[in-house]
Amino acid sequence: MTTTATTLIESEELRDLRAAVAALGAKHGPDADPTAVWAEAGKLGYLGVNLPEEYGGGGGGITELSLVLEEMGAAGCPQLMMIVSPAICGTVIARFGTEEQKRRWLPGLADASLTMAFGITEPDAGSNSHRITTTARRDGDEWVLNGRKVFVSGVDIADATLIVGRTEDARTGRLKPCLFIVDRDAPGFGRRHIEMEIDAAEKQFELTLDDVRLPADRLVGDEDAGLLQLFAGLNPERVMTAAFALGMGRYALAKAVTYAKERTVWKAPIGSHQAIAHPLAQAHIELELAKLMMQRAAALYDAGDDFGAGEAANMAKYAAGEACVRAVDQAVHTLGGNGLTREYGLARLITGARVARIAPVSREMILNFVSHSSLGLPKSY
Ligand SMILES: Cc1cc2nc3c(=O)[nH]c(=O)nc-3n(C[C@H](O)[C@H](O)[C@H](O)COP(=O)(O)OP(=O)(O)OC[C@H]3O[C@@H](n4cnc5c(N)ncnc54)[C@H](O)[C@@H]3O)c2cc1C
Repeated sequence: MTTTATTLIESEELRDLRAAVAALGAKHGPDADPTAVWAEAGKLGYLGVNLPEEYGGGGGGITELSLVLEEMGAAGCPQLMMIVSPAICGTVIARFGTEEQKRRWLPGLADASLTMAFGITEPDAGSNSHRITTTARRDGDEWVLNGRKVFVSGVDIADATLIVGRTEDARTGRLKPCLFIVDRDAPGFGRRHIEMEIDAAEKQFELTLDDVRLPADRLVGDEDAGLLQLFAGLNPERVMTAAFALGMGRYALAKAVTYAKERTVWKAPIGSHQAIAHPLAQAHIELELAKLMMQRAAALYDAGDDFGAGEAANMAKYAAGEACVRAVDQAVHTLGGNGLTREYGLARLITGARVARIAPVSREMILNFVSHSSLGLPKSY
């Protein structure tokens, strides 16, 4: 079998992992206590499948981790924090952390006894992350952080947050991105819960960093390689957001298909009417196509091709986000009035599905990236 073929056809090991995670998801389902699901999935090693074996992980890659998130979502119990804790923070620490940082954080992130949030978005920068102003100043042996972040997920349940800040280059005066681990209860680290219209266990927060003092070892990796390190974490983030969207889309579609096979208001089930069947078939095709791109992005990333993974991960996130929004919309419609009831649990996905369209990078910013980077078109900004 050629290398290309192996990335397109799932190995027996991956199929076994998929079946095992699907069984765990089926056991818990959409009404489960998310903390219990997180703890059990962690204990079984599913949340750290991508982390190195020597630090308690499964020794796999983003291929395995995205498969886990997709299956949990397809069972109705997605774990949003998988996108940030093992995928972004775990990856960045495993690739760029010091030996001490790896030993301090990775075993906990791998078995989910420790959770880490990730904060990059700022109120005045938004999609333009070049404009972030959270700054880190060196003061003797310490770093002093000041700034604000917004929409950061899970800060209340995370033991620490990986904060993207900037330090000043002593030679050029230019600000360089740098990553810092800030403990949940660090003095000066404030958080305000933002009320969202999303039915999810994970909450979003506005953060204030007001002279937060950190020991020197809280800087992850090299001060001069911040951008490279950041991108190493952002590609897994996009692949994992695609997995989140695919899981949700598959969950909604399965519910609609079951309903369309049973519900009969004329002579035959509503699923026999092409006006119901075709949009569901279309949703299935779009989800499968997005999944193919997600698998390609994960395979490129796991093979060490950060650059190639960048384009594929962006396209996968775009395709999965759009496929998820359309699948949820069609699923709700298929159930008629029941689509909007609490009992059937589909209407609550309408806002949830939109998350993958706007975060961690919006649909438009991916279209911009593909226009400029893949097609070489000029920029408007
Ligand atoms: C549920 C949820 C969880 C999140 N979790 C986290 C987290 O854990 N950590 C974190 O750091 N952030 C998190 N975010 C933030 C998220 O990444 C941002 O919301 C996202 O990057 C968009 O930024 P913004 O909201 O400031 O929108 P803006 O940048 O203000 O954009 C608003 C609109 O303008 C469009 N737009 C902007 N610039 C352009 C342009 N040049 N061309 C065309 N259109 C443009 C955008 O596409 C968008 O539609 C989360 C957000 C949500 C909703």
